[in-house]
Amino acid sequence: MKYWFDTEFIERPFTIDLISIGIVAEDGREFYAESSEVDWSKASLWTLENVRPQLDGKAMPREDIGYALRDFTDGDEHPVFWGYFPAYDWVAFTWLFGRMDELPMHYPQLCLDIKQWAIELGDPELPHQQGNRHHALLDARWTREAWAYLANLAPEAGERWAFGRKNPDQSGAAPK
Ligand SMILES: [Mg+2]
Repeated sequence: MKYWFDTEFIERPFTIDLISIGIVAEDGREFYAESSEVDWSKASLWTLENVRPQLDGKAMPREDIGYALRDFTDGDEHPVFWGYFPAYDWVAFTWLFGRMDELPMHYPQLCLDIKQWAIELGDPELPHQQGNRHHALLDARWTREAWAYLANLAPEAGERWAFGRKNPDQSGAAPK
């Protein structure tokens, strides 16, 4: 099943501190969570003014978000995650579970990128997001819209799967 996701985070060298995560599943279910461990002292004024006011305040530890995410994808042996410019989002996502090699075994170790796909298709203008932005769930919904727009242009490519592990010869987790 496909999952479109977005995160809000505090970005600083050398930190990507997850604030919130939103996910829309292909079957229409939605997931939203906020971290209770954000170090707001590192946040930019922009983040304090644009992201923080949109939070609902029902935050939980990152590790608990990871468990909730496992529940959300429970029973799906081949999840495919899509994001928009998702390099940093994917790091924040992965860290909910620990290191990259601590992702659930059936999760791919990469996500797919709406923007990269758009570039492959000649970089068409994507649908504009209606309503508030910089709220992880609202942005995740838009990511699905953007995917649907591109999938209309190239239906088969929209069904690509993300497979695999970066180091397939490594069995199990690396020693700590
Ligand atoms: Mg966002």
